[in-house]
Amino acid sequence: MNKVSLGFMLLVSIVCTLLSVSALASAPSLKGELTQGSLIRANISPGAQVWLNGNQIAVSPTGEFVFGFGRDAALEHTLEWQLNDTKQSMPITLKAREYDIQRIEGVAQKYVSPPEAVLARIRQDNREIANARATQSQLKDFLDTFIMPAQGRISGVYGSQRYFNGEPRRPHFGLDVANQVGTPVVAPVGGVISLAHDDMYYSGGTLIMDHGFGVSSTFIHLSKIHVETGQRVEQGDVIGEIGATGRVTGPHLDWRINWYKERLDPALLLESEALDN
Ligand SMILES: [Zn+2]
Repeated sequence: MNKVSLGFMLLVSIVCTLLSVSALASAPSLKGELTQGSLIRANISPGAQVWLNGNQIAVSPTGEFVFGFGRDAALEHTLEWQLNDTKQSMPITLKAREYDIQRIEGVAQKYVSPPEAVLARIRQDNREIANARATQSQLKDFLDTFIMPAQGRISGVYGSQRYFNGEPRRPHFGLDVANQVGTPVVAPVGGVISLAHDDMYYSGGTLIMDHGFGVSSTFIHLSKIHVETGQRVEQGDVIGEIGATGRVTGPHLDWRINWYKERLDPALLLESEALDN
């Protein structure tokens, strides 16, 4: 082989290497605790596609995306991404959590075993909640730092296994903040109101707010609601007031975070000092 063709082949191989490198997206950067109940916010090269456990996830035009793991999520997951031709992947391993047991006495019996007559109403409430949480929007408020939506004493945490009047019921998925009826409830980050209902059976005055890409906040047991469906709200705006409506034993706000149907832990989104009140 002469020198010219050797030089040409070297050049070709360098160019090929450069091209294949430019077709690879670097691994996404993830923000959030890798544990059950966690919301993970992430960034990747714009234009890349992303899959979690084989299911495609929406990515913003500037490369942001988000996903979450439920209370009892499996511990091993796979994140894949692809820019142009090459699909790459990384494992995600979650830390398992332990949850408290919470026994609540003095709950009105109609909330422990709802009478036949209200079952249709409960199903209708659940449909409306599911529809609101299925909202797909391009809002990017979920990227902001969340603040506590109300002042008060933390009276319930995410994940507790619950017994009402001694009977086992579903775990608790919210962060409870106890305070007087009328205490203001503010938006923890911006968003758009996707549900405003002043009297659901279990949850009483209920608000759901879309923060984008499947992330939503739910606020329940409200005494008053100050916003309406479709309204844009900014972080810190008053959206309602703490109440004692629905299945409660005293006035409190129950704040929940969802990624679509996955129920996540709001406390993991707050700076730790926000919880020390
Ligand atoms: Zn609660």
